[in-house]
Amino acid sequence: MLILTMPTDLAELGLEHFIQWMGELGQRRAYFMYQGPESGLVASHPELQALAEQLRSLRDFREHEAIFLEVGPETKTLQSAFIHKSRRGQAAGGVRHWPYHTLEELLRDGLRLSLGMGRKSALAGLWWGGGKGVIAQKPGAELKDTGYRRALYREYGSFITSLRGCYVTAEDAGTRPEDMAEIFRTTRFVTCIPPEFGGSGNPSVATATGVVCAMEAALDFLGLSSLQGKRICVQGLGNVGSSLIQQLMEKGVGEVLATDISPSRTESARVRFSKLPVDIRLVDEEDVDLFREPCDILSPNALGGVLNPQTIPFIQAKIVCGGANNQLLEDDRDANALATRNIVYVPDFVANRMGIVRCANEQYGTLPADPAIQRHFDETWENSVHVVTHRILEHAQRQNTTPTHAANALADALSEELHPIWGHRSRTILDSLMADRWHLLG
Ligand code: NAD
Repeated sequence: MLILTMPTDLAELGLEHFIQWMGELGQRRAYFMYQGPESGLVASHPELQALAEQLRSLRDFREHEAIFLEVGPETKTLQSAFIHKSRRGQAAGGVRHWPYHTLEELLRDGLRLSLGMGRKSALAGLWWGGGKGVIAQKPGAELKDTGYRRALYREYGSFITSLRGCYVTAEDAGTRPEDMAEIFRTTRFVTCIPPEFGGSGNPSVATATGVVCAMEAALDFLGLSSLQGKRICVQGLGNVGSSLIQQLMEKGVGEVLATDISPSRTESARVRFSKLPVDIRLVDEEDVDLFREPCDILSPNALGGVLNPQTIPFIQAKIVCGGANNQLLEDDRDANALATRNIVYVPDFVANRMGIVRCANEQYGTLPADPAIQRHFDETWENSVHVVTHRILEHAQRQNTTPTHAANALADALSEELHPIWGHRSRTILDSLMADRWHLLG
């Protein structure tokens, strides 16, 4: 007999409670599978059906095809895979390893991120659907323990294998290329693995190059010519931010002001750019707010949610364009607020596509200066970052809407296209998992 009951209110369901409940049941897996408007979202367990109804009403649910949950056999972490739409191909997107308190928080993040990944891949012209993985980070010191991390990512690989290829994972916040190598030990459905395994490794330089292309397109759209002599404010001196500064300098920008919250990242950037007109500031210690600085382009390359009612009214930039994911705290509200202030915002998933592009191309082999990558940086290829950015800004202007709205609409239309060879094969895989009672197999 079950001692723990399952709350019928999603907001009240703590992660530990859910994990314990599964344990008492003697099972490790659960799913939510969308069966169309009539049958709705079907849960693997009757006790979870009330939660399925609430899940379906969340803003970013948007008819996700499936959500899979599994408790790792060794680590007892909650692991998940989200499949938004797989008409263009396997649902692809990195796995985020992040702290969450409630199941709802985790589900909301997964839904939002997989929707965004599908849009990014579709606009980049990839034959991939939208997916995302999420692993709930456990509190405590285990994170730094190599043995624990290895066990965790091998478990995650086995979980992905059990999904028969309808989801393909990759690196994301909280994970590193070596974690992908560990996942690769137990599944073939992983990308962004290190070059020594034949993968594409760290995508940050390519991501930064894509952001530079998007900046150039936005300047061109506004009739502001090239990057030469411009003042750029860069938030974040991580993998993308520091490479971006390097590339901006090579383009002849006049001046960069950059911030980070990490003393070590700040220090190494100061050393790296010491002979260039790059002003590096450590947030907290120095009185600097990039979101109030007069500049040509403001470039967020740290966290999501930085464009919000607290920052937008003060922005002094003509353009906002950066690599960070989910820069708008609330899509419509914040995109409108930027447009009202005549600030051109390049939607993040238009500018930062190169990570997923490199991952997607990995399985087709590698070439030095790979033309399949390089064409994304071209100014003439119909699907390059430059051309797509221009197209979206023009669409938005013509239709008197925001670039975010225009980009979402274009991407959503492209997401409906079927994979030219495999059709909607992942949907068939999902049906097979349900028919085989996947939740009881693990
Ligand atoms: P990273 O972790 O290497 O760098 C992020 C940096 O931001 C860190 O140095 C961190 O200290 C800093 N930071 C955090 N909060 C800050 C704040 N309030 N002010 C200033 N700095 C702050 O990550 P990354 O790989 O450079 O990625 C940056 C962003 O771009 C993330 O949002 C990531 O999801 C997104 N992104 C990255 C890639 C890629 O190829 N790496 C691809 C697509 C999207």
